[in-house]
Amino acid sequence: MRITNSNVIELPRRSSQQAVSHEPEWMDEVDWQEMPVDYNRTIRLLVADDDDVDREKVQRLLSKLPLQFKIVCAASGQDALNLLRQQTYDCVLLDYRLGDMDGIDVMEQLPAQLARNLPVIMVTGFGDEQTAVRALRMGVYDYLPKGSLTPETLGAAIESVMRRVMLQKELAVAQQRLRRQSLFDELTGLPNRYLFFDRLEHEIANAERDGKPFAVLVMDLDLFKQVNDTLGHEAGDTVLSAVGKRFAAMARKSDTIARIGGDEFAAVLHGTDSQDGACQFAHKLVDVISEPIVINDSIIHVGISIGIVLYPHHGTDSRSLYTLADEAMYDAKQNSRHYTVYAPSERGHGENTAITQRLPHAIRDRELLLEYQPKLDLRSGRVTSAEALLRWHSSEMGRIMPDHFIPAAERCGLVKPLTRESIRLAAVQLQRWRQQGIDLPLAVNLSGRMLDDLSLPDFILETLQEHDLQPADLLIEITETSLASSQCRSTEVIAALTDAGLRLSIDDFGSGFTSFRSIRDIHISEIKIDRLFIRELELNAKDESIVRSIALLAQSLGVPVVAEGVEQESMLEQLLALGCTHAQGYCVARPMAEDNFTAWYRQQPAAS
Ligand code: C2E
Ligand code: CA
Ligand code: CA
Repeated sequence: MRITNSNVIELPRRSSQQAVSHEPEWMDEVDWQEMPVDYNRTIRLLVADDDDVDREKVQRLLSKLPLQFKIVCAASGQDALNLLRQQTYDCVLLDYRLGDMDGIDVMEQLPAQLARNLPVIMVTGFGDEQTAVRALRMGVYDYLPKGSLTPETLGAAIESVMRRVMLQKELAVAQQRLRRQSLFDELTGLPNRYLFFDRLEHEIANAERDGKPFAVLVMDLDLFKQVNDTLGHEAGDTVLSAVGKRFAAMARKSDTIARIGGDEFAAVLHGTDSQDGACQFAHKLVDVISEPIVINDSIIHVGISIGIVLYPHHGTDSRSLYTLADEAMYDAKQNSRHYTVYAPSERGHGENTAITQRLPHAIRDRELLLEYQPKLDLRSGRVTSAEALLRWHSSEMGRIMPDHFIPAAERCGLVKPLTRESIRLAAVQLQRWRQQGIDLPLAVNLSGRMLDDLSLPDFILETLQEHDLQPADLLIEITETSLASSQCRSTEVIAALTDAGLRLSIDDFGSGFTSFRSIRDIHISEIKIDRLFIRELELNAKDESIVRSIALLAQSLGVPVVAEGVEQESMLEQLLALGCTHAQGYCVARPMAEDNFTAWYRQQPAAS
């Protein structure tokens, strides 16, 4: 034992060799190494007792334990309060009777938060049950009558306190981790989309009360996909986390900047009441992001497109605020501007809002239907498959074409239920055709945004199974553009689809960035040449060479190639000569509703 100052005593750990025969039996039985508590470290212990003899007795008992203590003594309640306010202890042995006050008074006078987490063992000269109950209710961890104090009772109580403290700490860390995982983005440390929408709802609720306006920004990095493709996903992650740090550094405490997903971020700017204020912030964001990012030997410049809306000027609920900011962001991107404030008049705002508001009901009310357009095999002259094209027969707005409602669905997060509905409808149709003896495969169009949905392959396979269909019955058309701009998860989804035996068709080929890498890495079963190159084929020699080279590429990959949007019958021969195997377009047939298609198909040569 070494006394370091008047009331601090250090008790070194007793080694097992020092154990003597009169050591209580329980100590030999307890394997201290097995204990989850770290018994090698020094335990900081406060002994609060107004009786000198009792304090010394406690220290004597403690010295018999194979533990290392740093003991601080308090001779009064006030002493104990002062010491407890100054620093933390692993364990506190608190006498009930302290002269100037009792142990419970000490706990009551401490700040509630401190008292709640104080690892106290209350010691008392009176074995009074009521005091024990009061003490335990106050939150003391254990209660020991002085008469029963032995090294073993004291050791067991301290051990149990330490284990409880440790478990509480572990629990707090786990809770914190869980909270972070469910509310924060792991890569950037920024709030995730759930926390973003939660904060947005709060901001709206506050604004409804105090009338304070605010701004919502949606930000999307420019050409991020190229970073991923050319430098790899690790570099992509480094860029995202660098961007995240810069955003976090410039946000005020009252602002929220979150990562929504992929390379999309969003912000709520508290108290920003004017377009100018929001634009100034957007300007700062652009400046901060345009600083180069160095990855290994490469210097990367990232651009950003920002859409801005103001509450309550542009919208008053979270969904419309976000959707409109997202629309403004698209506008900025398309017009190569850094940022755009949402402008309702220019964008047919009313119609868009009506579409996004009614679309969820359209799915529920079965207002979505498919039309079918055949694909003709130019070599045999037979129809070998069909494409399903979605239509919305709205009871309020009439017939709406997919070019109108699919982009709106993508922007407001409805693309998942929409895709599932079109897959379900396709499966229902295929099953009906099979029952009618029509053995055609059917192609469905898949929005690029669906490629991030890891549950999609299972959904498709289950739907096929429910309708007694095989994976080969369904073809999935994905546009070349969405393949080029999708995130890394899409590779996993595509692989799962093709591994399960579903065939993949690259739609609108030639209209996007042709990524030979995606053709190499993905198992494709069909290429569809964008109708842009077909339209003027007879007049334009360049179109002819493009069609010929795409056909050659398809031929060397061993997959059929479909010319889309063929309007003149005279073109069919030319397409065959250029190497196209199939054609689709008004000259073969327009997209038709089920009954018309079935009747039309039955008239075709060698239809089944
Ligand atoms: P797409 O997949 O390229 O579909 C071909 C579009 O060209 C269809 O337009 C079709 O009606 C039209 N078309 C067919 N033959 C001709 C022709 O000879 N001349 C001309 N000018 N057009 C022709 P639609 O039905 O309006 O669909 C437009 C786009 O909407 C589709 O382009 C596709 O990207 C998307 N879409 C359709 N259904 C779905 C769906 O269920 N899900 C998703 N994600 N997208 C869909
Ligand atoms: Ca298509
Ligand atoms: Ca197409």
